[in-house]
Amino acid sequence: MASLFAENAYLPMGWASNVRIEWEDSEILRVTPQSAPQPEDSRVETLVPAIPNLHSHAFQRVLAGLAESTQGKEDDFWTWREAMYAVAAWINPERLYTIAIQLYGEMVAAGYNHVAEFHYLHQPHPLEMSLALIQAAKDVGIGLTLLPVLYQQGGFGRQALQGPQKGFFLETDEYLRLIEDLRAPCNQQIRLGWAPHSLRAVDTLTLQAVSASLGPLPCHIHISEQMKEVEQCLASYDHRPVQWLYKHMDVSAKWCLVHATHLVADEIQAITSSGATVALCPTTEANLGDGFFSLEAFQKLNGRWGIGSDSNSSVSPFEELRWLEYGQRLLHRKRNIAAGKHGSSGTRLLNGCWTSASAVLDRKVGRLEVGYQADWLVLDSQNPNLFQHAHLLDALVFNGNRNPVLESWVSGRLVAQKGEANYQDPNAFRQLLHDLRGAL
Ligand SMILES: [Zn+2]
Repeated sequence: MASLFAENAYLPMGWASNVRIEWEDSEILRVTPQSAPQPEDSRVETLVPAIPNLHSHAFQRVLAGLAESTQGKEDDFWTWREAMYAVAAWINPERLYTIAIQLYGEMVAAGYNHVAEFHYLHQPHPLEMSLALIQAAKDVGIGLTLLPVLYQQGGFGRQALQGPQKGFFLETDEYLRLIEDLRAPCNQQIRLGWAPHSLRAVDTLTLQAVSASLGPLPCHIHISEQMKEVEQCLASYDHRPVQWLYKHMDVSAKWCLVHATHLVADEIQAITSSGATVALCPTTEANLGDGFFSLEAFQKLNGRWGIGSDSNSSVSPFEELRWLEYGQRLLHRKRNIAAGKHGSSGTRLLNGCWTSASAVLDRKVGRLEVGYQADWLVLDSQNPNLFQHAHLLDALVFNGNRNPVLESWVSGRLVAQKGEANYQDPNAFRQLLHDLRGAL
């Protein structure tokens, strides 16, 4: 049994003072507000739940800053995708491990303590590629929900895979075998889900068959990120992507719909009624010119959403949340959209992340509560931006760019302090970037 005493902690009912937390292995056993510190307690000032990251492609971390210039024509998502494919073809298990060590270290230092890794680089060896990510997560100490991706066609209507897309392909039986092989290295901290890449990459009959055989695993899928994708889906299926998904699949609270940028009213109604979570990735969606999510309408129906770092051009949950709110303010020319008519934007934004994650990550995270994983952030009391507890969650999101995380804990273990992961290898990552520039 280990224990901690926090002068202030953000519990499910709100801020509480003089809170003792006791945990064993990775799980919180007791939370006692208004208590006295005991000699064995470690002492901290301010404690909040860690922030779950619902969507990441680790390898894209090396593309950050490399796709921000034009080459004689207009640039968009689809031209960016060509640059991304060139990097994807260069990745092998050793390189993927080196990138993931760097990225996952940045994540825990920034306040993300669990990541859903949407992983479609299956060549040269599918199992070794997945195990590289698992090993990196174990070494850094971050929680991981590994989502091996099923990617079988180049577009709606069973189009053939093109060029580097062939490295994402697995036959359905190979895919199911990979999922089975990955059950062994899982534990309380390393979880497993599955991920049809998108409706354009998997045909509907295969989607139904794989879903039936994988049953209770969480399912993540990219959907309605780009208008071109919506138009292609309408042309092929005579339905918009979310309409088609709900018509053919039993979408539950175990489903995570990634982006869901372009929605109409009946799609918002379907998602919110099913209890599925939407993973919003505001900095990547801005970087790729995707569009704006219908946050106001979605929240009115009590929709569940969280955030992801996606392409990892930014690795900060607070920047994601700020972008989410500011995008909405610019779009509607109003303020405090996430807050609704009563409340604080920071509180609503952070609670959005904390309350949505457990079902789609298959790990109890996001609450300082008995039965949840011992994942939390100790905030930096020396940070001048984190004043007054009444406004602290607003200040976390909207006040400045200093990293507010003093300590980051996962499964009851300290994994990062003062902006640095305990386990890291920056020289290996620098060498890898050097090699990549020589190869492209
Ligand atoms: Zn993605």
